Amino acid sequence: MAGDCVFCKIVSQEIPTEFLLETEHVVAFQDINPEAPTHLLVIPKKHITSISALEDDDQGIVGEIMLAIRDLAEKEQLDQGYRVVVNTGSQAGQTVKHLHFHLLGGRSLKWPPG
Ligand code: 5GP
Ligand code: ZN
Repeated sequence: MAGDCVFCKIVSQEIPTEFLLETEHVVAFQDINPEAPTHLLVIPKKHITSISALEDDDQGIVGEIMLAIRDLAEKEQLDQGYRVVVNTGSQAGQTVKHLHFHLLGGRSLKWPPG
C-alpha cells in the first residue's frame, strides 16, 4: 500500500468503489472517465508502479490479471472485440502510478492510437 496512491485507496475501499470482479490478487472497476461504452480498469491489489517495476515473483499476478480480463470481456459481452491498454511511463501518458490494464470495448476502436 502506497499512502498517496489513488488505486491503493480503491483496493482498501478508502475510496468506495464497486468491484466488478475480485480475485485473490486482482480487482476490476469502472474507469471514472470512460472512453468507451465499456472501460474497466483491472489492477493488482499489490502496489506495483508499472510493468517496468514488475518482479519475477509477480508472474502469477500478471496471469491472474489476464484471466480476469478474459472473464470480464465475456461478462461485458465484448464478442465483437476489445482492446487492452497498459500505459507505461510519462511518454505513454501513464497518470496513475499503480499498474492498471484498461479494458476498452463496445465501440469501434481506431488504430494506431495517438
Ligand atoms: P492512465 O492515464 O494512467 O493510463 O489511466 C489512469 C486512469 O485512471 C484514467 O483513465 C482515469 O480516468 C482513471 N482514474 C483516475 N482516478 C480514478 C479514480 O479515482 N477512480 C476511478 N474509477 N478511475 C480513476
Ligand atoms: Zn497503489
